[in-house]
Order: sequence, then C-alpha cells, then structure tokens
Amino acid sequence: MPKKILSIDQGTTSSRAVVYSDKGELIGYEQMEFSQLFPDDGWVEHDPEEIWQSVVQVLKRSIQRFDLIPSDIASIGITNQRETVVIWDKKTGKPIYNAIVWQDRRTSDFCDSLKESESLIQQKTGLTVDPYFSASKVNWILNKVNGARKRADNGELLFGTIDSFLIWKLTEGRDHKTDVSNASRTMLYNIRTNCWDDELLSLFSIPSNLLPSVCDNSYDFGYTELVGGKVRIGGVAGDQQSALIGQCCFDVGDVKSTYGTGCFMMMNTGSEIINSSNKLLSTIAYRLDGETTYALEGSIFVAGSAIQWLRDGLEFFQQAAESEDIALQAKDSSRVIVVPALTGLGAPYWDAEARGAIFGLTRDTGIPEITKGVLESVAYQTKDLLEAMRNDKAFFNTIKIDGGMVANNWFSQELSNVLQVTVSRPKITETTSLGVAYLAGLHSGVFENLSSLKDNWAIDRKFTPDRTTTGYVEWKNAVKKVLTD
Ligand code: ADP
Repeated sequence: MPKKILSIDQGTTSSRAVVYSDKGELIGYEQMEFSQLFPDDGWVEHDPEEIWQSVVQVLKRSIQRFDLIPSDIASIGITNQRETVVIWDKKTGKPIYNAIVWQDRRTSDFCDSLKESESLIQQKTGLTVDPYFSASKVNWILNKVNGARKRADNGELLFGTIDSFLIWKLTEGRDHKTDVSNASRTMLYNIRTNCWDDELLSLFSIPSNLLPSVCDNSYDFGYTELVGGKVRIGGVAGDQQSALIGQCCFDVGDVKSTYGTGCFMMMNTGSEIINSSNKLLSTIAYRLDGETTYALEGSIFVAGSAIQWLRDGLEFFQQAAESEDIALQAKDSSRVIVVPALTGLGAPYWDAEARGAIFGLTRDTGIPEITKGVLESVAYQTKDLLEAMRNDKAFFNTIKIDGGMVANNWFSQELSNVLQVTVSRPKITETTSLGVAYLAGLHSGVFENLSSLKDNWAIDRKFTPDRTTTGYVEWKNAVKKVLTD
C-alpha cells in the first residue's frame, strides 16, 4: 500500500508541496512565491495562471527531490487561501479576470449597501457582511468584466475558490468541486441547511450554474495524472480549518491559534452553530461522512506582519527572530502600547479604516520597547478574541498555537501571561499542510479515524503563566482612540 501523502498548500504569497509519511511525519517540501498585484488602492489580485504554474512547479520539484513515484503516493490533499475568487471559461479553462484576493476591499461600498440584509446573511452563513468574503467579488467580476454576465447566463463560465480552480486544473476539467469549509467562506453557502442558498445567490446576482458541487472534506475529488500516473485527490480544506485538523482540535472547546502574517483563532464548537454577538464568525470546521462540525473564528489582520514592518519598514533588525532578544532588552518601566492597525483592525472590531498608533512614548523609549510593544499587542489582540468567545458563551479547554511567530519563546510566554492560560506548541508547526494530509490519508485508508490521529500530536513546549500583566486595560483604552466608528 502506498505510504506517502502529498499536500498542496496554496497560500496567499506562496505555493508549497509538502510530503508526509503515513505516521504524519514531515518528510520535506518545495515552495515557490508568486506575484502580488495591486492594481488600485485597496485592490489585491493574483494571476490564476501563475498560481497554477507555481503549483505545477512545486509538485514536480517535490516528486523529483523526494524520489516519489505515483504508486508511492496514497493521496493528494489541497489546502488553500480562503475566499479568493476565480471565474474561468468552462471550455478553455482560461480565467476571465485575475483572482480577486480575500484582502481586496473594492466591494466595500456594495457591502455597505447590504446592511439591511445583514442579519439574514449572518443567520444563513455565520459571516459578517464584508468584502473579505467571496460573494461580492464574484458579483464585481460578473458586472465589470466585458460580456461576463451574458457568458455566465449562457452557462459558459465556472466559479471557484482556489481549491476548486486547482481541482479543475489538476483533473483536466473533469471535476468541478469544492469542500464545505471553503464553501462556507463564500457567503453563498447556507451552513445550516448545508447547501448553496438561492436567496443569497439572487441577492448577489450570481447564477447557480457557476457553482461547484460541495463535498465532505475527505472525499474523492477526482484524480490527477500530473504526478506521472493516476493519483486521487482525497482531502480538501481551507487553510485555517486545515490547521484546526492538523492541531487535532477534534473536541468541543479545542482552540488553535495560528500566528503568521495575521492571526486566526478557531474554536471547535461541535454540532452547535454559535450566533456571535461579538463579531466573531461561525463557520464549518469540517464535514466527515456527512456529519458537520462547526467552529467559531476570530481573525486579526496584523500579527507577524507587524514584525515584518519593524524589520523592513523601520529597519529595527534584519531577521524576525531577532525580535525575541531585542524585546528582552526593553526596560521594565516601559508603558509603550502599540496598536498595530496597519491595515485596519479585525475581530472583534472589524474596523477597516482604523490606523495604527503608538502610545506611552518617553525620552528613553527605544527599539526594544517598541518591539516589545508590538509583540505584546499580538497577545492583547488574542485576549480580545478569547474574551469575545467567552462573551458568546463559548468556552475553551485547550489552546494550541502555531505559525511562524510562535518560534519566538518570549512572545509565546507573554501570550500565556496576558491570557493567564497555558498554551501548547506542537513539534510540527506546519499544521496547515498537515491537516489536509490527514484528510487525504483518511480517504485513502492510510489513517483510520480522527481519534487515531490524536496519537500523532506531540508537544514541543507548554507555556504556563509565570506572572500577571497589567497592560490589557491600557490596550483597550488605546484601541478606543484609533477606532473610526
Ligand atoms: P504566513 O504563513 O502567513 O506567510 P508564517 O507562519 O510563515 O506566515 O509566519 C511568518 C510571520 O511570522 C512573518 O510575518 C514574520 O514576521 C513572523 N515571524 C517569524 N519568525 C518570528 C519570530 N521568531 N518572532 C516574531 N515573529 C516572527
């Protein structure tokens, strides 16, 4: 029986092909960046052909580098940047416009005009009305690209999030499918009835013939021959849901918090959909054998990217990892509070217009104090999310952390201190590609069931509170000063 699993991790800035063993051990990966296009203020696009070529490249390179033959590969998994939209021609496979990326704000006026339908949309989709999600982007392409609406009405076009586009390309047009976790981020999918919603489709003027069929996360998504022979695509999930699975958060109250460019916190809420009164999102975590598990999600726009800003913008240091030693040099007396709203504030504020600020500067404030302030701000934002979850009566039992930033021990310890909670860092922090490897492996029989996967989760380090902190009250006051509404 083939033993290896190949995960395609199609992220916002790069594509990766990651190889895992049948024990969920990371064997290695190949990675390739692609262009970020900013054609106008607040617009963010990707060239879908370039994304596809990057996926082809990393797949081919990983096959060569790890000496894989098709019969070695039990299954392929796909995890992806969520919400990003592609519309392509059914016959030629040619996209009719660039991919509009989740970060893109061009549809904010349209979304503002939907305020009247806000509670209906939230009730059906678990999402707040925001350009972030796919529906308004699809609407924009159909309205603005020459001839698109007519071609859509004639049944000539297909829509997909990135997973769907990749499945279609990998299967050479045989399969137009997506999974429930990606579908639940489109704002067109009813998470209660588990199907595309006609009322939402008409609200966004999107013909249903554009849509992919929606499948369980572990499923036969079709086969590809791109790897030199036939291999099934057996697992698909959006990146954050995949990380939840990679962290083995299978029980109600299990939380994972990922600290990359932004921070995404997700809590497993089991069969319950929580109607957040605190601007958190309810979403589908996964569906296996027809049984749906839900999650509550809070996203912070700026986490590791604030460290990038200190590194590249302010040139405080050359490597992100140096932030740890520098923060340790900060004077104890420092009361610097940084609100890193460089691209607005996410949950629980959802204020895209808010901009950053630094408070508490004195003559002896220097690079260490500001660096420490930035790291602390990510911990304070996490506390905001946990408080919002608590106010929604969603209570956690474990918090598992991952993402590039958690390599920083000072940050991870400070996070535990600010939250006054123990946080656990696993040995494999590549949880995004791991989650979908699990899903693909479940489909091909490499893994038996979810509970057997729990044995693969191994702890690297536990961070337990070692002191109390007082900055959170000052953080809340500082945020109030930058909010625009
Ligand atoms: P993404 O998947 O969003 O590209 P990663 O999970 O690879 O992000 O994490 C990269 C981010 O983490 C970068 O924004 C970087 O600034 C930050 N980062 C990486 N290492 C450290 C560190 N040791 N301390 C603080 N931040 C770090």
